[in-house]
Amino acid sequence: MKYVSTRGDTTPRGFSDILLEGLAPDGGLYLPERYPRVDAATLARWRAAADRSYAELAFEVLSLFVDDIPGADLRRLLQATYTDAVFGSREITPLAKLDDGVFLQELSNGPTLAFKDMAMQLLGALFEYELARRGEHLNILGATSGDTGSAAEYAMRGKHGIAVFMLSPHGRMSPFQQAQMFSLPDANIHNLAIEGVFDDCQDIVKAVSNDLAFKRRWKIGTVNSINWARLVAQVVYYFAGYFRATASNEQQVSFAVPSGNFGNICAGHVARMMGLPIRRLVLATNENDVLDEFFRTGTYRPRAAAETHETSSPSMDISKASNFERFVFDLVGRDGARTRSLFAETLAREGAFTVTGEEFARIAGFGFVSGRSTHADRLGTIRATWRRSRRLVDTHTADGLKVAREFVEPGVPMVVLETAQPAKFAQTICEAFAAGAAGGDVPTPTVPPALAGIEARPRRFTVLPADARRVMQYIEAHAG
Ligand SMILES: *Cc1c(COP(=O)(O)O)cnc(C)c1O
Repeated sequence: MKYVSTRGDTTPRGFSDILLEGLAPDGGLYLPERYPRVDAATLARWRAAADRSYAELAFEVLSLFVDDIPGADLRRLLQATYTDAVFGSREITPLAKLDDGVFLQELSNGPTLAFKDMAMQLLGALFEYELARRGEHLNILGATSGDTGSAAEYAMRGKHGIAVFMLSPHGRMSPFQQAQMFSLPDANIHNLAIEGVFDDCQDIVKAVSNDLAFKRRWKIGTVNSINWARLVAQVVYYFAGYFRATASNEQQVSFAVPSGNFGNICAGHVARMMGLPIRRLVLATNENDVLDEFFRTGTYRPRAAAETHETSSPSMDISKASNFERFVFDLVGRDGARTRSLFAETLAREGAFTVTGEEFARIAGFGFVSGRSTHADRLGTIRATWRRSRRLVDTHTADGLKVAREFVEPGVPMVVLETAQPAKFAQTICEAFAAGAAGGDVPTPTVPPALAGIEARPRRFTVLPADARRVMQYIEAHAG
């Protein structure tokens, strides 16, 4: 399997070539040159593999996308990654029934209690493997306001050949998030608390990455959400959820996905293109509704910083959706020149683009529908779900559930992806029950035993001014 860029560069590259990379050289995103098609016999075999273990299913799926890692090695990496010990159950992504045809697929039982662990844990294993094979090392530089940084650190901790330098705004993360990251004792994890806001952290990462000599000298890399390996790791759980929610491969299911950067639902799109019987992909946004707007109107208009709302589902607070170009490439018939013109020209010049009427009409054929959810919707959904099903959901999952209910159809299971655990957003949970709870029946989100008392553990972090040179000096002194 070879990979090409969404902006027309068709130089064929293998999986291992693009594993450690971000953007393609022409500024596009990598996609497989074609989607492998899964026929009925294969789907039957995969249903049986899924019964054996999540790692076996993952091996079947990834084998179609990875042909430059020996099968025995890939299987071993997957078996070491998707374990009961790391993900809290043998099923890895258990399916819970809520009510009449609505299910929750739990993707947030990993070490940081959010779905990003599903892909990031595998990325850690793949990076370590590939770097050892090449005799190289990598210094991962990132900026985080919470979720991504901790998922990356928990995936890369203790890995050979890898050091992580994670910038966060000093004193601005939630106490739980700070504790999660800063309590890691591993010598290859460096928490740099920057005296500034998240944008300052991001600017520093950009400044360091733009210094090509420094970048090459110190082997600086990233783990952002456009990485293809992260995306393909997420394809697996759509198959797993489908097999759990159905008794036969004749049935269809719909998936509802709380979306921000379009990484998670893009993996659903890939699964559907492979032939998984997905009826609808229900995209849910919060008040930051860039994507809902596109799927309703055909116009993609990234927002300015001032127009980006801080919400109670913060991991979906995006101004633009960094993986969206992958879907647009498919929508325009995999025309790299057309994709380039939309993203590199029209968008750059006018701050927005609108697809043609003919292109817009094709969206239905890809199964996409969308909706948005507000703070009030989240609180109402969290309350209603507790009352109806005795299940506490987090704010992001609540956005997904709210929009999912607008698209439930008789006879088609609706699987809502649970992207985080409520314990991470305890404040909003409290608010949900303070606002309208009649009676004393108020749940408290529970923190899993592994993370209990985490706020009291010793912390390791270094405070630095918002100055790229100081960060570069730190990297020079501590690089792997
Ligand atoms: C990252 C994240 C999302 C958004 O996922 P995308 O792949 O960016 O669309 C939703 N919920 C939670 C909890 C997240 O951490």
